[in-house]
Parts: sequence; structure tokens; C-alpha cells
Amino acid sequence: MAYVGTLDLFTIGIGPSSSHTVGPMRASRAFALEIPKPEIVTRIQITLYGSLAATGAGHGTTNALVAGLAGQRPEECNPAEVLTLFEKAKASGEISLLGHKVSFAESDLLFERKERLDKHSNGMRFKAFAGDQLVHTAVFFSVGGGFIESETEVIEIRKDVPFPYQSAVELLIHANSQNSTMAEIAYRNEVAIHGEESVNARLIAIWSAMKACIESGLNVDGTLPGYLNVSRRAQGMAKRLEEMSQSENAAGDLTAEWLQAFAIAVNEENAAGMRVVTAPTNGAAGIIPAVAYFANKFRGISDEKIARDYLLTCGAIGALYKLNASISGAEAGCQGEVGSACSMAAAGITAVLGGTNEQIENAAEIAMEHNLGLTCDPVGGFVQLPCIERNAIAAGTAVAAMRLALLGDGEHKISLDTVIETMRQTGVDMSTKYKETSMGGLAVNVVEC
Ligand code: SF4
Repeated sequence: MAYVGTLDLFTIGIGPSSSHTVGPMRASRAFALEIPKPEIVTRIQITLYGSLAATGAGHGTTNALVAGLAGQRPEECNPAEVLTLFEKAKASGEISLLGHKVSFAESDLLFERKERLDKHSNGMRFKAFAGDQLVHTAVFFSVGGGFIESETEVIEIRKDVPFPYQSAVELLIHANSQNSTMAEIAYRNEVAIHGEESVNARLIAIWSAMKACIESGLNVDGTLPGYLNVSRRAQGMAKRLEEMSQSENAAGDLTAEWLQAFAIAVNEENAAGMRVVTAPTNGAAGIIPAVAYFANKFRGISDEKIARDYLLTCGAIGALYKLNASISGAEAGCQGEVGSACSMAAAGITAVLGGTNEQIENAAEIAMEHNLGLTCDPVGGFVQLPCIERNAIAAGTAVAAMRLALLGDGEHKISLDTVIETMRQTGVDMSTKYKETSMGGLAVNVVEC
């Protein structure tokens, strides 16, 4: 049985998109590493298909492809440097293929917006030439969350864990039969794959990166990249909230507003192409960190508990979306990205606030139920409008779902498995106009200026 782990779903990378930036960087690096003799290659040609072709330029795909061919990885690259790579390649007429200089012209990058390869909307065909001779070719797909697949192979899906599960029902059976939590089940699976020391260190690193992203985003202002000229607002929100909390006319409970500021801080960092944790995608990267920071700051949940119980519960639920539906906006619309992240965060905060396994499953279900049908329509192909604000709203929905679930006893009519399958079916039925192509919705109704 396939298994997707928490450490697969949460990876430290760069903005603005897991499927259009992180995945393409991994794919081009994988292609480069496959080439038998990279030193004889004189030219690389890349064709982007479907959603990648439609919105790749606004999502940083071009920079990511150049970085990946050079051998860079999202986890370790310098985000500010990556932002300049495509322009530098055009200016110099060359790129690096694992350290070897290869000629490059803008025409070597082709955008087939109306053509979709069978397997997935985010297709990439790579060709390496030595002179006129084709020496290697491969097709990769960026299937959401930074995961990549080849034409025949699913890459990075783990197997052989002590508690494999494909459904929420199976996850609940494992947890309850072990008299355990979902987080503990996920932890034992992760340890079986990566070892205890590595799992502990990586969970702390992920939570540290999430916190750093929020704190960085709350302290930067200015304008986000792209012609939309979207102003950053997290810093201004934080200043205003500080003033309101210190004013004599006490403003009351501002924690909901802070929650929104935390989410916006992350998504502004993401839109700027900075260091972000894919959670489970970049477009939806603000929700899980914001809800965790909210629990940390306002509910007294320790860093250790966030790194372990919160993230692992989120991951256990996120795996269900990855395995049974989709976390890709190009495949399922925004319900797959923001909806999945909202559901994961709802589960995570319910767990660290003492919810039972049934209440956790209920919270995850509530959160997704009210994201069903959410379309993906990024204006101008940038992960900014409506994406940034949408994360703030979804963070609030996750907390509301937790409250509702904790007021009940876990009994409910619509199961998480049902709502995940409904999301999958809705995604299948959704017009491609609403699947990260910027051909419908807000993307065509907002006047570009
Ligand atoms: S609308 Fe949603 S799915 Fe689409 S790019 Fe924005 S966050 Fe991602």
C-alpha cells in the first residue's frame, strides 16, 4: 500500500508555488541527473504543457527549471538568487547543466498552453542535445505539493510502514487499536522510514522554518513581484494590531485578526519567492503555520508539541488527500490546495487542544466540507490574488472547525472519507478554466492595470 509521510508533505523550499516552482526544480534536476554524459550536451529544450504553460511564468517556473538543471534543490537553494536565474540565462545565452555550460535561448523553452499530457495537467518534456543529436529525453509531471512523477513511475511515495492506511477509517482503527493518537501512528511510520533522530530533527526544523517565515513576513513591507503591484500588508496589520491592543479603548480579543496576519505573512513571503515550507502546497502554505503559531502564542501549546503532535496530525490527514484525491490546484482546483491545508490544520489544532481521534477526524471533515467546490483562479497567474487572503480566511475556518468539533463528541453524519471522495469527484467535474490556468473566475474578471 502506498504511504505518504509527514516529511514528504512538509518540505522546506521556496515560493511561490509547490507545483509550478518546487516540482519543476526537482524535475529538471532529476532530468539532469539522468543524462548519461552531461558533459557532451550543448543544448536543452523544455516544453511545458497545460497549467504549467498557462501560469508558469507568474509562478516562477522558468527560474526553477534553470536552477534545477544546475543541480540546485528547493531545500538548499538561495531564494533571492533563484529569482534572477532566468533573466541571467537570457542575457548570457547560457545555463549550467550540473556545472557544464550549455547554450540557452528563450526559444528553448516552449509553452503549450492548450495541450495537456494525459497523466496530469502539469507536464514537462525535457530534451538534451549534443549538436543536432538528441541524446536524452524524459517527461515529468509536477503533481502538487512539490511531488514529481515520471511517465511511468510515482516518485517519492513511501511504502513499508508498520501502520499503512488508505482511509480515515483505517487510520482511526490503527490509532484506537493501539490506544494511541493519530500523531503517534504517524510518528511510528515516519520513524520506520527515516529513523527516530532524523524524524525529531526534521520536525523541529520544519516548525522552525514555519515560524521564521511568519516572523519574517510580519517585518517586511513593499510590493510583491509582478505587474499587479500588490502591496504587502502583514507588517501593517501587525502594527495596527499592536496599537489596538495597547489603546485605552480596549479592542477586545484580537487573536482572530492575528491569525489572519500570520497567514498573510507566510503567503506574502511565498509570493515574493522566499523561503517557505510547502504545507502541503505553497499556494496554501500560510494556513498550517498560522494555525500553529496561533496555538503557540494564544493557547500555550509548546514548540515541542507543535513540532510533533500538530505537524504529525496534519500530515496523517494530508496523506489521505494526497492518496485519495489531490492536493494540486491544477488537478482539483483550490479545494485541493487550500481545502486540504484547512482540513489538515483543523485536525492538528484539535489534536493539540486535547481532542479525541474522532473529534480530530470530525474537525478535518468540517473544514473540507466548507471548502468543496473552491476554484483556482489566480489573477495574472501570480500566487497573490485571491491566494494570500484566501489563506487567512481558511486559517479562520480551520479554527472554527476545531471549535465545532470540540463541542461535539466526534459523532457526525458525513465522514472524512466521504468528503475527500466528494472533493475528488468535484475536482474531476470542474472545468479546466478553474484549475490553475487563469482562464476563468477572478483571473478573467479583474482588470489588469
Ligand atoms: S487560487 Fe488556490 S489553488 Fe490556485 S494558485 Fe491560489 S492558492 Fe493555489
